[in-house]
Amino acid sequence: MTRLLIVGPQGSGKGTQGVRIAQAFGIPAISTGDVFRAAVADGSPLGKQVKAVIDAGSLVSDELTGAVVRERLSQQDAADGFLLDGYPRNIAQVGNLDEFLEGRQESLDAVIELDVPRDESIARLTRRAAEQGRADDTEEVIANRLAIYERETAPILEVYRTRGLLDRIDGVGSLDEITARIIAALEARGLVRAATV
Ligand code: AMP
Repeated sequence: MTRLLIVGPQGSGKGTQGVRIAQAFGIPAISTGDVFRAAVADGSPLGKQVKAVIDAGSLVSDELTGAVVRERLSQQDAADGFLLDGYPRNIAQVGNLDEFLEGRQESLDAVIELDVPRDESIARLTRRAAEQGRADDTEEVIANRLAIYERETAPILEVYRTRGLLDRIDGVGSLDEITARIIAALEARGLVRAATV
């Protein structure tokens, strides 16, 4: 029963680390960005609804995102825990998640913040743009996404810090080093790993 969030700016490596940590704790990694991208790729009604917003690097509405998350967390594999990557993204979404979890008499165990300097994030995103050609990895869209992170998402960290849930992790280093730092922080909270990575 491990319920985690991973938060960090675009280019912080939260997607990669989220998958590794979820595997270590035997829980599904749920990325709202991945859900939206898959919907766009499928051309589903959800995909059609969110494509323009995602391509611009803006945020999908709290209402729609909340519905997607509630539906995903209601699936059987998330009954015993989950790692959410990319949700919540603003204070309103924190409230929506609180309400959903309270309704299930559940609560979060920890919130991992991946701390990466702005220059390093931009360098990583620019590299990924060249490698993967994501529509939301152009220079202008990258700047928009980082500005949104600083304005909308960074404030949620203070909320979780006040609740004693925040583990701030240095996100610069090798993949293995960063994974080990996160696992050490979670184990220091008494959370128990399901497998070795
Ligand atoms: P990510 O891969 O987490 O950077 O997400 C890619 C894009 O999906 C974002 O730029 C947003 O357009 C959208 N998205 C992902 N998560 C959320 C969220 N929690 N709230 C609103 N939009 C989101």
